[in-house]
Amino acid sequence: MNSCRWLVIVVLSLVQVTPSFSAPKHPKAFLIFTNVNIVNVRTGKIVPNMTVVAIDGKIEGIAKVALIGRGRNMQVINASGKYLMPGLWDMHAHSAGGPAKPWSEKVILPLYIANGITGIRDMGGDLELLEDRRSRIESGGLVGPNIVLGGPFLDGGKPQDYTIPVNTPEEGRKTVDELKSRGVDFIKVLSGIPREAYFAVAEEARRQKIPFAGHVPREVSAGEASAAGQHSIDHAADVMLACSSKETELRSKLIDAVAKDDAAAYTAAGLDILATYDPAKARSLFTQFARNGTWQVPTLVWWDTTARLRSPELATDPRLRYLPSAARKSWNQGTFQEQITPEHAAALQKTAARYSELARDMHAAGVPFLVGTDSPNPFVFPGFSLHEELQSLVKSGFTPAEALYAATLAPMEFLRRSDRGVVEKGHVADLVLLNANPLEDIRNTEKIAGVALRGRYFSREDLDKMLAQAEAAAQAEPSGAK
Ligand SMILES: [Zn+2]
Repeated sequence: MNSCRWLVIVVLSLVQVTPSFSAPKHPKAFLIFTNVNIVNVRTGKIVPNMTVVAIDGKIEGIAKVALIGRGRNMQVINASGKYLMPGLWDMHAHSAGGPAKPWSEKVILPLYIANGITGIRDMGGDLELLEDRRSRIESGGLVGPNIVLGGPFLDGGKPQDYTIPVNTPEEGRKTVDELKSRGVDFIKVLSGIPREAYFAVAEEARRQKIPFAGHVPREVSAGEASAAGQHSIDHAADVMLACSSKETELRSKLIDAVAKDDAAAYTAAGLDILATYDPAKARSLFTQFARNGTWQVPTLVWWDTTARLRSPELATDPRLRYLPSAARKSWNQGTFQEQITPEHAAALQKTAARYSELARDMHAAGVPFLVGTDSPNPFVFPGFSLHEELQSLVKSGFTPAEALYAATLAPMEFLRRSDRGVVEKGHVADLVLLNANPLEDIRNTEKIAGVALRGRYFSREDLDKMLAQAEAAAQAEPSGAK
């Protein structure tokens, strides 16, 4: 067979290519994985025993057999028996400000990278800090994931930290306009925006060609949000309400409970929503989502974890070593045991189980999905939780390949980008090397042997060092550290 020789030449020719018209500023950096099983997230299949060559951060060659030399700028990873998949994206994370305020970059960014998270959609927080980190990450001065950012939250009511109050259509239009010129990637909407103001946000966002995403405001139905062009609906609570045969009545009860700050009434209305689920209404809503491209980010790990906050075993979670001292108060498990009654915990557990079924049904109806976690809410650990979300999606009925797609290529489709998300020539080398096949068992995404970030390779040893440094930083930090 002559094909082997030909393939050798393909790889060697890559090595030798140097454009004659411009002298390279620096020697090209090679990252080469030999004999690796590629996880093709496009087809959901394994392509066995390949050589993958990345040059200066980009995948430039994939071949069956390759003869490769050794050089100072050439890192060769013998990946025999290992699996190479694209880097993961957490499409609902908070990394700076908001729920992430106590988490400094020294703690939170390594947790993403060590867990193979090479991209996040930051769903609300400190815009300046996010922009600063993003530019340092892109220039290579800081190790961290790609960041897609919305900046501050838009919500009704009074001004709050990291939140721009939007109570009127004028405020809605003005805020979209200002944030667009500040350079955010999308607009994050929350539950308290009044109806007319929300539709003004939607209209202005459409006019300015900037996506808006997040919660559906309480005064708006999920179907209306889909028709208004909301790009993603996060947490699915608004979807569940829109599937109720008593939607209007229960919506009023929820609005009333929030106005009176009545948690018991809120929980009761929530259980009524579950009890009045109307499958026919749900089906037509899901068809609408699929047709309009209204993406769902159910954050099942957040629902599951919230339902377990009373459980004593959380207090001994080994990952608590990465919890910054400043976050210890809000993650105090003893407080949750006092605050959450067993009845409330039972209601939360029932709710979490129903959201898993809701995800299953939407997925079966062809609604597009993204993997998101809502970390770092209590006990939803940055980085680690993405793997839990993948497992939750598989438990709800996704195949491992479908769950992986929702964390790799689907985010690129959602973001209308084509530079990442798959192990193919021409794509950025944001990669995760695994010790076992994730298509056989989704839990294998946790068996990380190495991570490449724009072609910079971190071995297991490097990642462990990174985690140890994050742990030390978490312990050392005063409250409110940046
Ligand atoms: Zn969130």
